[in-house]
Amino acid sequence: MKNVLVINAGSSSLKYQLIDMDDESVIAKGLVERIGIEHSMIKHKPTGKDSVQIEKPIGDHVKAMAYVIDALIDKEHGVIEDLSSIKAVGHRMVHGGEKFSSSVLIDEEVMEAVKENIEIAPLHNPANIMGIEACRKIMPDVPMVAVFDTAFHAKMPREAYLYGLPYDAYTKYKIRRYGFHGTSHSYVSKKAAQILGKDVKDLKIITCHLGNGSSIAAVKGGVSVDTTMGFTPLEGLVMGTRSGDIDAAIVPYLMNKMGMNVDETIAYLNKKCGVLGLSGVSSDFRDLWDAANAGNERAKTALDVFCYKIKKYIGAYAAAMGGVDVITFAGGIGENDGPVRALACEGLEFLGVKIDTEFNHPLRGRQAVISTPDSKVVVMIVPTDEELVIARDTCELVLCG
Ligand code: AMP
Repeated sequence: MKNVLVINAGSSSLKYQLIDMDDESVIAKGLVERIGIEHSMIKHKPTGKDSVQIEKPIGDHVKAMAYVIDALIDKEHGVIEDLSSIKAVGHRMVHGGEKFSSSVLIDEEVMEAVKENIEIAPLHNPANIMGIEACRKIMPDVPMVAVFDTAFHAKMPREAYLYGLPYDAYTKYKIRRYGFHGTSHSYVSKKAAQILGKDVKDLKIITCHLGNGSSIAAVKGGVSVDTTMGFTPLEGLVMGTRSGDIDAAIVPYLMNKMGMNVDETIAYLNKKCGVLGLSGVSSDFRDLWDAANAGNERAKTALDVFCYKIKKYIGAYAAAMGGVDVITFAGGIGENDGPVRALACEGLEFLGVKIDTEFNHPLRGRQAVISTPDSKVVVMIVPTDEELVIARDTCELVLCG
């Protein structure tokens, strides 16, 4: 058994999956919530056994990791005999900066470099690093790999990653487009090509990852040549609670008007905007549709703005690649929300996009082609699997390479 443990650590949460890489099956998965806060709990789902949910004080990520291991080896709910069954750990790391264009085996030098990136990713990297450090304390002899959200976008051309700022801003302060959700865009573009029986090298694919955080990538010949998220995950599409693209001059104007400091402004743009801020209802698309269908105009507007932005980027990326063969939808919204897919593709007939309304129903995360047989562009739902990408990279670097 080649078991790989995949860890995705947030500031107060830790998601995990144990995957048997012999057949890529998930043996167990779960989530530790509210780390360091009252009512912390672990939700553990062993495959083929009953799920458990245990509430107990979990003060930090080291305790959280210890409980994850306890759950995995527990006599009743466990799935492995002992720690020695875990051959490697793969960690999701949000920001790799320019230094990491692929996954790496974690050593002291890598830890130094990812810590240097905290400056450009203060909202994400510290939590990921806490996850790695906790794991290294609990499992000091198990090899670990860092898999970066930014890596798939590392080959973007200069014209796509440079902003219109003085060049010094790039060379001195590393300000450029990095792009995120790379594991998802990479997985989905390859999977789409595989489903269609084509070589990804021969395809121009626009991958729409639509979840709480949303981004689109232009994938030409298997390489990400542009993507909507930028220096941070705040840029691009309108998201659940993030603003997406806005005129930079709005930021100081808002700070003045609302009396906000820098931290409050960043929190506002990340947590209070997007469809939540537009609708005043929710960031969850099920709530938005319920409200819109009940006549709530602001909810309807939020949905319209969200879908229009997707359509706009699809057009832009078709232009960037000189055409488009495939459009994919993934993520909680992309996989489940038929009306959003239809609205986002409405009016794209000039590009050769024709959606088959019969097949565009909510398919509960199943893979499907939703364009008509005569559509020039194939439109597909391709459920993403970021944990599997992390496990595969980890396996390749540690166990299989
Ligand atoms: P993710 O971040 O990929 O887990 O996506 C989470 C989001 O997917 C939620 O906030 C919802 O807005 C959306 N979502 C999940 N299930 C559905 C559904 N059945 N219909 C519409 N939206 C959904």
